[in-house]
Amino acid sequence: MDEKHLRMYRADLHIHTCLSPCGDWDMTPRAVVETSAEKKLDIIAVTDHNTVENVEAAMERGRQLGLVVLPGMEICSQEEAHVLALFDHMDKALSMQTYVYDHLDGDNLPDVFGYQVVANALDEVISQNPRMLIGATRINLNDLIKKIHEMGGLAIAAHIDKKAYSIPSQLGFIPPDLHLDAVEVSFRARPEDAGKTLLMGMAIPCITSSDAHFPNEIGRVSTKFYMAEPTMAEMRLALKGKEGRYVMYSKKVEP
Ligand SMILES: [Zn+2]
Ligand SMILES: [Zn+2]
Repeated sequence: MDEKHLRMYRADLHIHTCLSPCGDWDMTPRAVVETSAEKKLDIIAVTDHNTVENVEAAMERGRQLGLVVLPGMEICSQEEAHVLALFDHMDKALSMQTYVYDHLDGDNLPDVFGYQVVANALDEVISQNPRMLIGATRINLNDLIKKIHEMGGLAIAAHIDKKAYSIPSQLGFIPPDLHLDAVEVSFRARPEDAGKTLLMGMAIPCITSSDAHFPNEIGRVSTKFYMAEPTMAEMRLALKGKEGRYVMYSKKVEP
């Protein structure tokens, strides 16, 4: 493709809504999308814990505002490591959700873990999800990443610099045979340092995202994708550094 069609897209690929028990009530799908648009993001992924039930509402508001919303999920493996699963179509994300629900036990205790609110694009409450979404699934990391790939998704190890719920915190290292598409560092770490320490020299692409649970956290860090259009196919090329596409990082300092 002609190089001149390539441009930079600013992406925050790890954002929670009020459906995550730890997500703020103000993080309705509508509010998440509107705040993301105000912060001049081009692409976001809605990634609640083990569920995609607030994604369609966010996609609907995204279409109205011209913001690309990818369906995603932050899945907790059997090892209690968080993995981001990102998809290009809602039907694939829903298939993944079915698989995750089949391997997720327990009921939520709202007073202990927090409320899990499913809302529509108008901020109307549809329901409360009764499952223990914050829990670990019975899916081990190998099977989880394999399944994400079978469903056509990207598998990204979440916040690998965190001392809990990350692959390094749970396993002590990142197994080279996991076939991750990328790793993510939190706003606390510098992506350019990840290769030296956490990845132990492995050539896995690294992104950074906000892991926002509150509106003011959206876009606090982001990853820039230099590519032709805001699609997963292009993002794959950018992560691999192919055909002139690439990723870089931007740290947005909040006032
Ligand atoms: Zn997490
Ligand atoms: Zn998260």
